[in-house]
Amino acid sequence: MKSILLIEDDPLLIDIYTTKLKEAGFEVEVATDGDTGLRFLKEKKPDLLLLDIVLPHIDGWEVLRTIKNKPSPFKDLKVVILSSLGQKSEVEKGLKLGAIKYLIKAHYTPSEVVKEIQKII
Ligand SMILES: [Mg+2]
Repeated sequence: MKSILLIEDDPLLIDIYTTKLKEAGFEVEVATDGDTGLRFLKEKKPDLLLLDIVLPHIDGWEVLRTIKNKPSPFKDLKVVILSSLGQKSEVEKGLKLGAIKYLIKAHYTPSEVVKEIQKII
């Protein structure tokens, strides 16, 4: 079973995405802030990280930088950003920092998000 770590702080979205991903056969772990997310990454070693950007404590940009830009055992981790931030510059920043996909929340239904993930893992 493929596993996904969801780093997201909105309880409603956590509920929706967790349900959808589990229905699709994924194992799902949730962290509600960046530092917990980084800790879970080490403990759970997920196949894919679904990452929000606006988060308490350490935000998604910093999580992504920590994973991709420093010597890190998670350099090859597949990261999909799922954010309400939808400026072109933000999308470009996410991809430049090493995310393989940047999904803008307003543009994708939860089912479509799951489909995008299934294309990747
Ligand atoms: Mg958020």
